[in-house]
Amino acid sequence: MGDGRGEDYLFKVVIIGDSAVGKSNLLARFARNEFNANSKATIGVEFQTQSLKIDGREVQAQLWDTAGQERFRAVTSAYYRGAVGALIVYDITRKLTFENVARWLDELRMHSETILVTMLVGNKCDLSDLREVPTDEGKTYAEAEGLMFLETSALDTTNVNAAFHSVVKEIYFSYT
Ligand code: GDP
Ligand code: MG
Repeated sequence: MGDGRGEDYLFKVVIIGDSAVGKSNLLARFARNEFNANSKATIGVEFQTQSLKIDGREVQAQLWDTAGQERFRAVTSAYYRGAVGALIVYDITRKLTFENVARWLDELRMHSETILVTMLVGNKCDLSDLREVPTDEGKTYAEAEGLMFLETSALDTTNVNAAFHSVVKEIYFSYT
């Protein structure tokens, strides 16, 4: 398939985290440069495949979004199967979504066969007036758990590309 120089790389990356933290909007921003101010539960597609240029090669990232089942804490093992990377997203304006990161991390580790490249993502950093989770708290937790860390805004685009790129790049270099 293709020019034989890259399309061999296909990495599954799952996006998890509490409901309404902005998972679907991060994906929409990254994959289609779109943002939805009142997005309902994700409808339709379960993943999007994005082509990224890493180290001069074409790498395909298969980015999985939940269909709203996280509301019932009912993300299935099929969702995690074969994943080599993950973004665990919380909302910097809702402390509870940060406190729940530990549970998501447990679930992720329970379901994965391999060590996943995992990034902790503090989303909605555009809402600085409403912030409940200091940047340092996110960073410290991430360091303790061996996770990458970034704060993002799907609204104003801050670090959205960087988040997905860094994860896929890290996967690429740990698999080649
Ligand atoms: P999901 O349930 O985790 O997939 O969250 P959604 O992507 O559906 O977003 C939930 C709500 O948060 C929606 O009203 C979005 O418009 C809003 N939202 C998502 N990302 C951001 C962001 O970076 N900044 C702000 N201000 N709102 C956001
Ligand atoms: Mg969603």
